[in-house]
Amino acid sequence: MKKYYITTPLYYVNAAPHIGHAYTTVAADVLARFLRSTGRPVHLLTGTDEHGSKIEAAARESGLAPEEFAGRISESFRELWRHLDIRYDDFIRTTEPRHESRVQECFSRLLAAGDIYKGRYRGFYCVSDETYWTETDAPPDPKGRRLCPNPECRKPLQEVEEESYFFRLSKYQRPLLDHYRDHPDFLRPPHRANEILRFVEGGLQDTAVSRTKVKWGIPVPADPEHTVYVWFDALLNYVTAPQSGADFADIWPADVHIVGKEIYRFHAVTWPAMLMALGLPLPRAVFAHGW
Ligand SMILES: [Zn+2]
Repeated sequence: MKKYYITTPLYYVNAAPHIGHAYTTVAADVLARFLRSTGRPVHLLTGTDEHGSKIEAAARESGLAPEEFAGRISESFRELWRHLDIRYDDFIRTTEPRHESRVQECFSRLLAAGDIYKGRYRGFYCVSDETYWTETDAPPDPKGRRLCPNPECRKPLQEVEEESYFFRLSKYQRPLLDHYRDHPDFLRPPHRANEILRFVEGGLQDTAVSRTKVKWGIPVPADPEHTVYVWFDALLNYVTAPQSGADFADIWPADVHIVGKEIYRFHAVTWPAMLMALGLPLPRAVFAHGW
């Protein structure tokens, strides 16, 4: 019998765990415990997301190498889960070889298939959110500054222009809309579906999946000047983790990815498009809580 596969997001190790991480993980644990009590086999995955410029910067500030810094924070997450008696079946770190080698494999496959291509990126980057914004997303304010459009952030953006690999997200607009229509339980809870539908109907732009300025990341195979953009790397954990050990088909596809609302778009749009490009079945549901 296929296991009921539940995931939490991979927590970013730029700072110590906080109540938001505990909230999501306790919710996932409650669901897992409930299902186990009904006799259903369950696989609960959690872990830590450890690459990117924010971690590079946080490590520098604390005088540690990024590996060591990430290792310490990752361990503090495990400690918290022990303390809260969270029963997970697997804990993945994105710095583990089992993850890194498969991310490189996926990157190469998508490059060979033409779903990843090399181009030039010009835009505005928020270090705090690890997010790129376009000119339209972040128009200059009356003082001529460009500020992060994320209302929780609003920090000044850096203008960047660089050679970059892109994921052909635009190609998946129609397939995504078809999928949402044919699987009404995919976007959950239902009131969150509207914002995703409106966003995808508005058209999708290809998205940068590599950076040359960030050294703390997974090198792009055959082009190690580039590292894989941290979001692309982290999302893949949901498939790289079950590929080790247990039989992949007993676990994948995920029954539910539980996430907070601030990362819903990545999970409801980018992630299913990546899976379509890789030829893998899509998760049954992506559930965002509103904190
Ligand atoms: Zn920001």
